[in-house]
Amino acid sequence: MAYIWALMQEAEQPNKPNNPTPALTFNDFNFQPELMEGLRAMNFEKPTPIQQQAIPIILKERDIIACAQTGTGKTAAFLLPVINKIIQSPGDFIHTLIIVPTRELAIQIDEALQGFAYFAPLSHIAIYGGTGGISFEQERKALTHGANVIIATPGRLISHLNMGYVKISELQFLILDEADRMLDMGFNDDLNKIISFLPKKRQTLMFSATMPPKIRDLAKKTLNDPEQINISLSKPAAGVMQAAYVVYDTQKIDLLKSLLAGKNIPSILIFSGTKDKVKQLERELLRLKFNAAAIHSDLDQDQRNEVLRNFKNRSLQTLIATDILSRGIDIDSIGLVVNYDVPGDAEDYIHRVGRTARAETTGVALTFINPVDQRKFKRIEELIGYEIKKLPLPTEIGEGPAYEPSKKHDKPTGHGNGKGFGGKKKSWGKKK
Ligand code: ADP
Ligand code: MG
Repeated sequence: MAYIWALMQEAEQPNKPNNPTPALTFNDFNFQPELMEGLRAMNFEKPTPIQQQAIPIILKERDIIACAQTGTGKTAAFLLPVINKIIQSPGDFIHTLIIVPTRELAIQIDEALQGFAYFAPLSHIAIYGGTGGISFEQERKALTHGANVIIATPGRLISHLNMGYVKISELQFLILDEADRMLDMGFNDDLNKIISFLPKKRQTLMFSATMPPKIRDLAKKTLNDPEQINISLSKPAAGVMQAAYVVYDTQKIDLLKSLLAGKNIPSILIFSGTKDKVKQLERELLRLKFNAAAIHSDLDQDQRNEVLRNFKNRSLQTLIATDILSRGIDIDSIGLVVNYDVPGDAEDYIHRVGRTARAETTGVALTFINPVDQRKFKRIEELIGYEIKKLPLPTEIGEGPAYEPSKKHDKPTGHGNGKGFGGKKKSWGKKK
């Protein structure tokens, strides 16, 4: 564990974003009083850079494709202008459709909307799979009577659209959050199908922290002459201090044990690539008497919600997850993210480590690299443009493999970034 503390002490200052922040305040957007009241209730004092850039363009009714680092406030960047427009022209119709890759993200965005729109006359519902007949009936009613904002995962929404009762002809906004992830999950056909039900005249917004080239096709089909906003394209958030260990698979569990034992890190999120590995790790950590639980797609939705609730309220210290949780999920004070294996997609790395250091806080992200994953890790370093520090293994773990990623690549230049562990810096000020 001494290694983590040493790492923290060596932390450099985070990279400063290249673009100077235009000094806009929430007053500059001429938001309706009900929305301003919601912002005050949520303790939002100053818009983040992505909010300062995206909101004026959205208010001007332009399509956008927006890329900004994890934890920098993309949700409010699209929700606030939408709420403002609904306050200006209320009615019983589906005004906005937000499509997201996972159920957990749908629930989270719905909750954020509830907060911002607390004083606004607006109805909204999250629609996602894995729930039973009663929920389906409630969703049917909301879709028939025109809830203003629908936040949905693709599959469940299509089930409703196919039944023919969804009143969607007056739609003003289509928003795709984490669009690249939806393509990874094989939702391309589903998205096309959903879009075929929507009116052509609408405003479309696409948000993610990563926009790999494969997204271009979808963007071309769905967006109309979009403005592009790129704040630190494909870069981990500035407050994430990253490091890695080069290990054999057989050493991983002991390394984890050695890193965590006796330390009171409030919330730890461990990622592994497949649900079988996640389940196995859960068994091993429970055997070692860690306060740990796993979340993966074999749990039913109630179980998934319960595990996540326990993690959020800190009764569960360690959560082991598949990439279900790598996108969008915003949980306060996750101090440590561990990549138990290297994610297959370089973009997923950025999202996984972005579960810590949210909203200008800081956190540590450690990746375990086995010999087979060394090439993949090299690709991640190439994507983000700098090398991630490899730490020596604690002596009790024994010697690890040599680090020999493919020698065909040039060495990436640049440097790691990051700050201390759990410290807070709040320059855009959310009072707790
Ligand atoms: P992203 O989608 O960019 O990963 P989120 O929208 O989930 O990030 O926001 C991350 C966190 O920052 C959330 O807890 C959110 O409430 C908070 N946040 C966003 N914008 C502001 C702001 N202007 N002031 C204070 N807190 C903010
Ligand atoms: Mg997000």
